[in-house]
Amino acid sequence: MKIGILALQGAFIEHAKTIRQLGHEAVEVRLPADLADLAGLIIPGGESTTIGKLATEFNLIEPLRDFARAKPTWGTCAGMIFLAKDIGIDRQPILGVMDITVNRNAFGRQVDSFEIDLPVSVLGDDPFHAIFIRAPLVTGVGPGVQVLARLPDERIVAVEQDHLLATAFHPELTLDDRLHRHFLSLVEKRL
Ligand code: GLN
Repeated sequence: MKIGILALQGAFIEHAKTIRQLGHEAVEVRLPADLADLAGLIIPGGESTTIGKLATEFNLIEPLRDFARAKPTWGTCAGMIFLAKDIGIDRQPILGVMDITVNRNAFGRQVDSFEIDLPVSVLGDDPFHAIFIRAPLVTGVGPGVQVLARLPDERIVAVEQDHLLATAFHPELTLDDRLHRHFLSLVEKRL
């Protein structure tokens, strides 16, 4: 399958590498034309304000929004912020396609980065080693949203809504490719 990775800024190379290792084609997306023929799209972690600014400059906001409304799209960290309907900030450009409320930089300065083994409902019994880097939190979910993972204190860090997937942490920075395979199964279902 042909999977696009939004390649404006952030950890896109790592996602592309994992997709290729799993035997699929990874296409770096920088222009609206790059979205043609893709079966799915990954929006990486990085800095959501920068991704939003560059996407606006490259006229990508509307094409990305149309894509994410129709086809499987996975946002990790900054990508999760970019997919959300509500981030509590009006002036930052986002796609606003997923029915979640997200709080940016929710962990503050003291513990802004950490790693933890988390159970993820769609991955079976083995916990997933989740790396959080100045991560967002999901503070509200709409009725169609399924919660996939929570921190031990119950705060939500992974969600799915139909063909949309969002994780607050960075699966592309670990060797565990189960979340990539889960996303590819969402893509396959909608081919
Ligand atoms: N703090 C970043 C933001 O607000 C996200 C960090 C990340 O993607 N690792 O966009």
